[in-house]
Amino acid sequence: MLNIVLFGPPGAGKGTQSEKLIAKYKLQHLSTGDILRAAIQNQTPLGIEAKKFIDKGELVPDETVIGLIAKELDDHKDVKGFIFDGFPRTTHQAQELDKMLTSKGISITLMMALEVEHQELVKRLLNRGQLSARSDDRNVDIIENRIKVYNEYTQVVADYYKAQDKYRTVHGMGKIDEIFERLCHTIKEFQKD
Ligand code: AMP
Repeated sequence: MLNIVLFGPPGAGKGTQSEKLIAKYKLQHLSTGDILRAAIQNQTPLGIEAKKFIDKGELVPDETVIGLIAKELDDHKDVKGFIFDGFPRTTHQAQELDKMLTSKGISITLMMALEVEHQELVKRLLNRGQLSARSDDRNVDIIENRIKVYNEYTQVVADYYKAQDKYRTVHGMGKIDEIFERLCHTIKEFQKD
């Protein structure tokens, strides 16, 4: 199995690159952001609760997102691998993910972190806010808070995978296809033949 954590700040291109990786490697996409937005759309109790955090650019509580991932892992048993997009965002989430995967006899293959300059992130997110229905992409203060939350709480998750020698950075500026090539090159290093 090929189980990838695609990492990086909001606006780094995780969603865009996930789509391309899924097409090439036939992976199952698990995006907590997408799942939460679907729950908000359907006005489920979980969605209504999560919206309070998302609208401020804060993290949704760990137990909520861990529960969502647990269900997704159970729902997708016969897959070639998973791509985790926007999860784990805290060290606790990373630890719980490892426990869940271990109990299924699988593990994370690697984490790839997309590195993008701050100004470019803000530009990309504001641009996306004009094209999509995402309320958290329309306001500069919320965008800045999401990047701050990433730097304060999420960036440390990299250390968790570094300690397992599963962490690689990938330059996330430039053309979408060029970035994708860099990701594929990095994956090759971890693929056993
Ligand atoms: P994303 O689409 O990944 O940028 O996620 C959008 C928002 O959903 C984030 O700003 C958080 O409020 C929430 N969210 C998504 N994934 C997580 C997670 N793993 N942990 C906590 N909150 C999350």
